Amino acid sequence: MTNPITHCGFIAIVGQPNVGKSTLLNCILGKKLSITSDKPQTTRHSITGIKSIGEAQLVFVDTPGLHRGGKRALNRVMNKTAKSVLSDVDVVLFVVNALQWDQQDEAVLQLLKKNSAPIILVINKIDKVKQRERLLPFIEAISQKLAFAKIIPISAQKGTQVEDLEHEIIQYLPESPHMYDDDQLTDRSDGFIASEIIREKLTRSLGEELPYALTVGIELMEEEEDQLNIAAVIWVEREGQKGIVVGKGGEVLKKVGTQARIDMERYFEQKVFLKLWVKVKSNWSDDEKLLNHLGYGEQ
Ligand code: GDP
Ligand code: MG
Repeated sequence: MTNPITHCGFIAIVGQPNVGKSTLLNCILGKKLSITSDKPQTTRHSITGIKSIGEAQLVFVDTPGLHRGGKRALNRVMNKTAKSVLSDVDVVLFVVNALQWDQQDEAVLQLLKKNSAPIILVINKIDKVKQRERLLPFIEAISQKLAFAKIIPISAQKGTQVEDLEHEIIQYLPESPHMYDDDQLTDRSDGFIASEIIREKLTRSLGEELPYALTVGIELMEEEEDQLNIAAVIWVEREGQKGIVVGKGGEVLKKVGTQARIDMERYFEQKVFLKLWVKVKSNWSDDEKLLNHLGYGEQ
């Protein structure tokens, strides 16, 4: 008996903040892994999502935002990560908002021009387009900018044409054995998932007030009988930011802790006991060594 031919490869999802990269990944994976938010730059780590469809396995790397400027060490590390991820994938999904094209999209495009992997242009949020006839000239104009392998309009939120996109991606995956078990969703550690859940709740609670240079470190994660004990530290840069994160009478931190615990119990499918602290580490975002230690330098 001969084994069936299998395909497997890496896919990067790029695009400026808020175009719906995380929503698209979640839609494809069918389980909430990547963190979505109205606030740009929630996903600082590149998250790997895995989707197996028949003989094909799609391995997604959600690249950290392609930031311009880059004066601070934090931006430098994130840019370096994005570029190294891009040079190592089989397909790139370039996500843009329907009927919008601005300088930030242009900047991402310039970066992609240096890349050799096929690029699928994903035009997202078509559910928001009231006048459908405006879509065709938009597609026509963008198609002049680069030799895209394919252009696919979708709604990541509603799932419209996302299956078509998946099948299109498969066309570009190399013949290869599957790298992961077919029921595996991510190669990220439980600790990483836990820290991203906390980060998401902080973003939702604090909105615009969320300190830019904030990170979450998991200090302890251990099972005790039927319970999972998790201790996490929220690192900020200044005392004032600590006050914001803790909130009046500790109410923000308490709310974040409760919401995060509920999500963690759902994800880990067991009872979770979560302990949260806020600590001040001044200038940490200028310290690349510490960033690497916290996991921002990996990949
Ligand atoms: P990212 O920064 O590119 O990862 O963007 P997110 O996935 O976090 O999405 C940013 C915002 O756009 C969120 O409020 C999403 O709910 C919203 N969004 C994403 N996809 C769609 C879509 O297809 N239609 C609509 N109407 N909104 C969307
Ligand atoms: Mg995102």
